[in-house]
This record gives sequence, structure tokens and C-alpha cells, in this order.
Amino acid sequence: MPVSDRFTTHVVENQPPPLAPYDAYATDVALREAVAREGGAWAEAQLIAYGPIAGGEAMALGVAANAHRPALRTHDRFGHRIDEVEYHPAYHRLMELAIEHGVTGFGWRRAEREGAHVARAALLYLHNQADQGTSCPLTMTYACVPSLEQQAELGRDWLPRVVAPAYDGRSAPAADKLGNTVGMGMTEKQGGSDVRANTTRATPVGTPGPGALYELVGHKWFLSAPMSDAFFVLAQSDEGLSCFLLPRFTPDGVRNAVRIQRLKDKLGDWSNASAEVELQGALAWMVGEPGRGVATILQMVMLTRHDCIIGSASLMRQALVQATHHARHRRAFGKALVEQPLMRNVLADLALESEAATALALRVSRAVDASVRDERERALARIATAIGKYWVCKRCPPFVNEAQECLGGNGYVEDSGMPRLYRQAPLNSIWEGSGNIQCLDVLRALRKEPASTDAFFAELDAVRGGSALLDRETAALRKLIAADGADLEARSRRLVERMALAMQAACLVRGGNVAIADAFAESRLGRAHGTTFGTLEPDASLHDALIERVLPG
Ligand SMILES: Cc1cc2nc3c(=O)[nH]c(=O)nc-3n(C[C@H](O)[C@H](O)[C@H](O)COP(=O)(O)OP(=O)(O)OC[C@H]3O[C@@H](n4cnc5c(N)ncnc54)[C@H](O)[C@@H]3O)c2cc1C
Repeated sequence: MPVSDRFTTHVVENQPPPLAPYDAYATDVALREAVAREGGAWAEAQLIAYGPIAGGEAMALGVAANAHRPALRTHDRFGHRIDEVEYHPAYHRLMELAIEHGVTGFGWRRAEREGAHVARAALLYLHNQADQGTSCPLTMTYACVPSLEQQAELGRDWLPRVVAPAYDGRSAPAADKLGNTVGMGMTEKQGGSDVRANTTRATPVGTPGPGALYELVGHKWFLSAPMSDAFFVLAQSDEGLSCFLLPRFTPDGVRNAVRIQRLKDKLGDWSNASAEVELQGALAWMVGEPGRGVATILQMVMLTRHDCIIGSASLMRQALVQATHHARHRRAFGKALVEQPLMRNVLADLALESEAATALALRVSRAVDASVRDERERALARIATAIGKYWVCKRCPPFVNEAQECLGGNGYVEDSGMPRLYRQAPLNSIWEGSGNIQCLDVLRALRKEPASTDAFFAELDAVRGGSALLDRETAALRKLIAADGADLEARSRRLVERMALAMQAACLVRGGNVAIADAFAESRLGRAHGTTFGTLEPDASLHDALIERVLPG
């Protein structure tokens, strides 16, 4: 016997097989039900097509795109300023797959059909599980459409390329491409949440006004996806803070004066580049009314905030899938981990949280989708976007951490993919308006837009009788909101959390799975729950049902 065989120590046992490639849509019962419930079933062919890609080719690309981080090239070899970011080919392929399958444009191209934006949200939900960095430019490109529509001439020129199922990653003028991507620049050093503190100056090149060209001088402290074909930015014109569309190449086809100073060294989100830029007389068209910049860009911001909910729900889903897969294949103390009662409680509790996050995310998608047709849905989208952005994004980091722990030590090691999910987990809560800003936005809606308060309660009233605990909570919230005490701002996190939990409970009641809806209401509204995951009541059949839904068999 050769020495190497006699002394073999390296026998690999009791490690799970890799999960990917798998079909990320077909295996996701909660997502499929939510898509159908919220009116996106007619578009299922899109999701059926993207499911195996999101769980297969895109998963592998996501690993590569994050391992090879984007690099800044400020100058070419001769010393000319080029301000380009070089991405790994995996990044471009991810963008191509997503855009061709409708992650940016499907909702707009099929906007005449109810539920098109719900299906689009589900496409992003699938994509984001494979790679979160590309979700940033994909989201911004999707979200810019209502702001672009505010300037008819610009819209006519740009919209067909923005919603096209075509990606062109070349550094070239937008008009030379079949498809364009769009970013956003609001945050400056001295103010992010408080955008009115922006100091970038906008000076008209000719006759001022909407649609006219301005020269921008200033800086942007966070500008993600800096290779986008254009950016919506805010700058101070004579009339006050205004919104502009800043192309990366000027109308004459030369590089615009957008100087990339450096790329941020971020905690996570590594496939995506986020830059600090200086605008040194960069040309940009005014969009919307002068001095009404915040209102103009807010339409884009509402949609990116909506996508933060989708992104966090999707990140939780991916972490849960990995944890469940691992626990099914890993044995400890004579049983598969998934057979250990305490591990079952952890997985079941995570599954319940994930069901609720997905249900709420897609409910907000339907409100967004129906906004153009239905006033009440528009009012609901207004308040529910902020509620969902606050709560679902806040739940993501502890959730991912708990799922990571299900893998034991492997979950702390890069190869497992869990550290990447963990690094990404806080981001949706921080950007596009951090937690407090969402709570203040909910208060603003409650105080200034009675239609939003009515739409919120109508949503809870629609399932009255479905859960006694929810009915009790609805009554308590009504009182609390009506009282509107002077200290409500300082208490608004608690209020928004309760509003979010009530909405999630209502979504699950409407979903029709009584065991799941009751378990959510008892644990989250009735407080039969601890402060960590894995603290559900020890109901074995409920735990079975929840875990079985995560990944069939
Ligand atoms: C990876 C990454 C990428 C980004 N990409 C972009 C991009 O492409 N474009 C872009 O424009 N921005 C981008 N941002 C910026 C992001 O949107 C801001 O960082 C965020 O909105 C917070 O703004 P700030 O950093 O200035 O924090 P601040 O506004 O200083 O806020 C700091 C904290 O104070 C809280 N706070 C603020 N005001 C109040 C108040 N009145 N009451 C109570 N609490 C308050 C906030 O909630 C936050 O927790 C990105 C950020 C990150 C991390």
C-alpha cells in the first residue's frame, strides 16, 4: 500500500453538497404565492425563465464579480484623464442577463397590464440573491423613469434606451447604445439625508429653465455605478435646489467633466463601485421645475426605496435557503441538524420572518404598480414604502447572522458565500434614507396625507376577523396615531415597527395559510417570542410546515 494511502487523513465526510445550480423561482413557494396574490401571475414565464439563471449561472458570476472588485482608472497610459471604472467581465454579464430578462425594463414595457411591476420586483428578488452589487445600477435604472418622464423632450430621447432589454457596458455616448443605465447623485459631504444642504452650483449655459443645459460645479460624496450613461443629480440654481440629468458624455460626444476622485472602500457591496466625484463644469439638463429638485427626484427615490425592501427580503431568502440546505445535509449528535428540535425552531422562525418580508415587499410592489390607476393604492404606496424600507431592511442583518450561524464555522468562511451576504445585509437600511429618515417620512405621511393613513388602515380592516391579535393591534394603532402626542417623533421607531408588523400580519392573513398567519401574529403581535430568532412556541407541526416551504424536500 503506498505511504500516501496508509496515512490518508483527508476524507471528506458530513459536508453538504453545493446547492447551486438550482431553480431559484420554482423552489420558492412564498415568492410564487406572493406574485400570484399581487397580480403578477400572467407574467410568470419571465420568472420561470430567470429562476434557473438566478440560481445557476448568475450565482457563479456573483462570486466572480465580488472576488474581482472594480478598479478606477483616472488616466490612460498617455496621461489623458478618462475617469473610468473597470469591471470584471462577470459584472457585465450579470448586468446583461438581468437587463435582458427584464429586471430594469419589464415593468415599464408592460405597464399597461396590472401586475407588471410586481413581476419586475420578483425578477429583481431573484437576481439579487445571486449578486447584490449589480442590483444598485439595475434599481436606479428602473427607478429613474418617472423622473425622466417629467421632461418630455429628454424622455422621448432617453426613455426607449432606459427601458430597452439591452445592455451595453462600453464607455461611449448614450445615443450610440441600444440600452442605457442611469445612476443618481444626491449625497454630498456636508449632507446626505439633508439634501437641501447641497452646495453644487448650476449655471445656465443659455436660456435657463426646464430642459435647458446648465454647467454644474461641485462634488458628490457617494455616486454609485459611476459608469452609468447618465445620473440624476441635485444642484442649486438661482431658483433653489433643482434636478438635473447629467450625461457621462456631453451632447457633443466628449467625456463630460465628471472627475472620479476615488472609489469608496466599502464594508461589502464589492461588485458595485461607489465613487466620490467632482463636477468641474459638467453639462446637465434641468429636469422638472427650477427650485423643485427634491420633488422631481423623489419619484425616483420612492422606487429605489421600494427596491431596498425587495433587496433585503431577497437577501434574507438567500441566507435562509443556504441555512436550510446545510441543515438538511449536516449531521451532529446522530441526526441531521434539521432534525434537532432547537435547530428546527431557528429555521422555522427564520422562515416565518422571510415569508412576512417577502409578502410585505410584494404587497408594496402591487401598490406601486397600481398607483397610476388607483388613488388608494397610490396613497398606500406612499406610506408603505417607508414602513417597509424601515422594517424589512432593519431585520436583514440579524436575520443573515442567524442563518450564517446555522452553517457553524463554515458560515464564517468566505467559500460558503455567507460572509458576503452578511456584509451586504446592513446596506439597504443605510442608503436611500437611513432608518430614522424612513420613520420621519412615515410621520410626515400620517400628519400631512390623511389618504395614506386611511389607506394603511383600510389594508388592515380588509382582513378584519382573520386574526384577533391583529384586530386588537389595529385598534391600538388607531388610537396611538390619532393621539399624535408631542413626543411621537422620539417614539416613531416603535410606532413604525408596529405598523410594519401589522401590515405583515395582514399580508399573511390575506395569503390564506392560517397556520403561518397565526404563528406570525402570536409571535410578533402577541409577543410569544424572545428577542432572537429560534424562540417560537415549540409546535412541531408548525415548524415542519414552515421548513418544508423553504425548499421543497
Ligand atoms: C454603499 C453606498 C452607496 C451609496 N450610493 C449613493 C448614490 O449612488 N447616490 C447618492 O446620492 N447617495 C448614495 N449613498 C449615500 C446614502 O444614500 C447616504 O449615505 C444616506 O442617505 C445617509 O446620508 P449621510 O451619509 O449623509 O448621513 P447623515 O444624513 O449624516 O445621517 C446620519 C444618521 O443620522 C440620521 N439622521 C439624519 N437626520 C436625522 C433626523 N432629523 N433625526 C434623526 N436622525 C437623523 C440618519 O438616519 C443616519 O442614521 C450611498 C451610500 C452607501 C453606503
